[in-house]
Amino acid sequence: MTSLDRPHLYIGGEWVPPASAETIAVENPATEEVLGHVPAGTAADVERAVAAARAAFSSWSVAPDRAEVLDRLHTSLSKRAADIARVVGLELGAPLKIAKAVQAGLPLAVLRSYADLAAQPVAARTIGNSLIEHEPVGVVGAITPWNYPLHQVVAKVAAALAAGCTVVLKPSELTPLVAFLLVDAAEEAGVPAGVLNVVTGTGPIVGAAIAGHPDVDMVSFTGSTATGRAITHAAADRIARVALELGGKSANVILEDADVTRAVKVGVGNAFLNSGQTCTAWTRMLVHRSHYDEAVSLAAKTAGGYKVGDPFDPETRLGPLVSGAQRDRVRGFISRASARLVAGGLDSPLPQSGHFVAPTVFADVDPASELAQEEIFGPVLSIIPFSSDDEAVTIANNSRYGLAGGVWGSEERALAVARRMRTGQVDVNGGSFNPAAPFGGYKQSGVGRELGEFGLAEFQQVKAIQR
Ligand code: NAD
Repeated sequence: MTSLDRPHLYIGGEWVPPASAETIAVENPATEEVLGHVPAGTAADVERAVAAARAAFSSWSVAPDRAEVLDRLHTSLSKRAADIARVVGLELGAPLKIAKAVQAGLPLAVLRSYADLAAQPVAARTIGNSLIEHEPVGVVGAITPWNYPLHQVVAKVAAALAAGCTVVLKPSELTPLVAFLLVDAAEEAGVPAGVLNVVTGTGPIVGAAIAGHPDVDMVSFTGSTATGRAITHAAADRIARVALELGGKSANVILEDADVTRAVKVGVGNAFLNSGQTCTAWTRMLVHRSHYDEAVSLAAKTAGGYKVGDPFDPETRLGPLVSGAQRDRVRGFISRASARLVAGGLDSPLPQSGHFVAPTVFADVDPASELAQEEIFGPVLSIIPFSSDDEAVTIANNSRYGLAGGVWGSEERALAVARRMRTGQVDVNGGSFNPAAPFGGYKQSGVGRELGEFGLAEFQQVKAIQR
């Protein structure tokens, strides 16, 4: 096995030894073998990284060539697309097809959009006698999860750099390896020293040191709602800005006049994308009673047809879950469920090793039950019937989350339902993902927006100069 060991941290434009000799083993969740090791960083490493980011800020915040640097970074990262897909396939277990198209394709599209936005900075404008200017927030701490490990990193780093901020990044300890490919690309592209710093390690040690650091001006976090809450508390002590992309429990609403076959097939695919480890996953399928039985049997058949197994087998649709702990958590939800199991479940045949869970579908799910309320983050779909558009909206909004959703039906009727859903984004009749559109949550799904111009604005202060 090729070792993917990465023994150093990247601070101030150099590969430096970490303060402690401790390491974190990175596992291949499909085989349970160790792929490599990364440093278990400490608060001392964060201290150095924040100092390097602060030192770089004075020149990067006014650098005239940020667009050119981001353009070169895009070129360097693009050359690594095949490696990105392979590494995410290994450390996350993402099936080859989605590893290439989404895990590698999406961050490249996002980086491209920020290189373009940096090339057209928002011009200063006037309101009455005031000149309105946009300035970078400062040093940004970026803390990211494991499910789209490079995309989530790039969504923060590219926007922050385009705005003129410098960054201390802590990638997830479960999938830290792909972030090093971004650093390799940054070195090659000549990103100035200290503009991007990476400290690997655990959340309670490195993540908490970043969130609580007095010289970090903003914390941009993607992960669970519980950790988002802890980060907000830490940042509140010094009134630092936070941007939070958190969990979801999104509804896919299939109205009376929908194309049911397409709505169910696309809906099942969405719910099980990345083995269900997607914050926007449509994990609740709400179906009008006139199509309910048809939708339940089609969803069960579609899920039953998904091949589970080796991520590097081109036929595979579902890889493993990221870890044994995550698999056990998901199995717990399935074992406690009181709804009607129509596909998958705990007794389905699965590969001998690896953290696999079969694509599982429950029908007749009570909208108030654990299955319909909690973010499971695994391949578990809950189907719920409704009788009217009003009832569908009520059920869809009966959640403490508000990240995403889908609606299927005639355009006008579906748009009316979409507008009533309390979520940050809604896809009507399968509208595809737009990397320039604002992405973020209502309610406990988060604060702020990522991607495109709205994502850029998160990393900027607005100044009014009166004349
Ligand atoms: P997590 O909250 O456990 O970890 C996320 C990151 O926070 C990791 O880097 C972790 O090391 C760090 N962390 C953990 N404890 C910390 C602490 N006390 N202080 C500072 N940092 C800490 O989440 P996860 O399990 O990696 O990811 C899954 C969750 O992420 C799901 O809930 C999912 O919905 C959410 N998510 C949201 C979005 C979105 O954009 N809304 C995208 C992807 C994932």
